[in-house]
Amino acid sequence: MFSDKDIAHFSKLETPFYYYDLKLLENTLNACNKAASAYKFHVHYAMKANFNPIVLKKIEEVGFGADCVSGGEVKKALEMGFAKEKVVFAGVGKSDKEINDALDNDIFCFNVESVQELSVINDLAEKKGKIAKIAIRINPNVDAHTHANITTGLDENKFGVNSWDMPACADVLNISPNLQFIGIHFHIGSQITNLDVYKNLCVRVNEFAAWFEDHGFKVTVLNVGGGLGIDYHHPNQQIPDFESYFKIFADFLAIKPYQEVHFELGRALVGQSASLISRVLYVKNGKKKNFIILDAGMTELMRPALYQAYHQIENLSQTSTEIVKYDVVGPICESTDCFGKEVQLPETFRNDLIAIRSAGAYGEVMASHYNLRENVQTVSSEKIAQCIS
Ligand SMILES: *Cc1c(COP(=O)(O)O)cnc(C)c1O
Repeated sequence: MFSDKDIAHFSKLETPFYYYDLKLLENTLNACNKAASAYKFHVHYAMKANFNPIVLKKIEEVGFGADCVSGGEVKKALEMGFAKEKVVFAGVGKSDKEINDALDNDIFCFNVESVQELSVINDLAEKKGKIAKIAIRINPNVDAHTHANITTGLDENKFGVNSWDMPACADVLNISPNLQFIGIHFHIGSQITNLDVYKNLCVRVNEFAAWFEDHGFKVTVLNVGGGLGIDYHHPNQQIPDFESYFKIFADFLAIKPYQEVHFELGRALVGQSASLISRVLYVKNGKKKNFIILDAGMTELMRPALYQAYHQIENLSQTSTEIVKYDVVGPICESTDCFGKEVQLPETFRNDLIAIRSAGAYGEVMASHYNLRENVQTVSSEKIAQCIS
């Protein structure tokens, strides 16, 4: 995956850094765009997966909208040139300031996550003399069969409005002149690899859409969220199967002629296009375990510490076929600061370059300054191409 030229260039750089393969990002975006366009589906990129400006620029250029989960993300999306008609704002705890700013910017839609939030948005919109477009985020109680910490669509999760609160939503909508109901929204979890889960979601979407229409509300937007997973075990099989994914919705949603279908993909668009590149600081050979201690840690990539996530780890400096098992850890003073246990690598030495793959989603965005760590650096394939030529 990395050329000798890439590695030679990496070896001159200070580590750790995120390496972005912008060509791969472009190819992934184009594949998604093509597959979605076949059904006239709309894609909003879920910005929280990665908001590095070099990434956002590429996504904006393809024409996708932005799915935001904070006022900061709404602001950033607009700054990066995303059209306001393509900005949606979800989130279980929108503050008054965030709602007011979004109203001032005339964004496309609020995805509303509680009955109370409906009244709050109506009041704030009334004060500004505006009509807020809203979709109800419904918790459909569909099991995403993914890691418990990234499941969002079950009754016990904090996200969305539960089915038994639909009549209350309808009541509030009927007495809220500053709200314009446009549709329903779902997002059941992340890193979903079993596509059958989406068939179950479609069944629920159809039921809820029918419920709203039966109660006199025209549903023009069916927003089915994101969550499509990537293959962390095969970082070189890089482009997700967008065609099969979209086909499920085309086959199983009961789409009326006046309805638009919206998607909010994050991880699937950006996950494979970055690696965290790090150097080996020390190798400790113990009686029971061998440790590789890297100069990158959970402060640069938190997923393994946060939800025991797997990332493929490669030694870019050694080619020996003799394999040793190592626990690959970071320098941070936490025992969970571990990228992988019993990882099979060629015998590894101080100063070797290590790549932690598939780090484009929920990687750089979760970086922290814990232990007073410095900002993590970014290197793009375009920059390296410039340096080499
Ligand atoms: C995080 C999030 C997404 C994107 O999830 P991925 O798993 O990255 O595709 C979509 N919609 C909402 C509301 C989200 O919070």
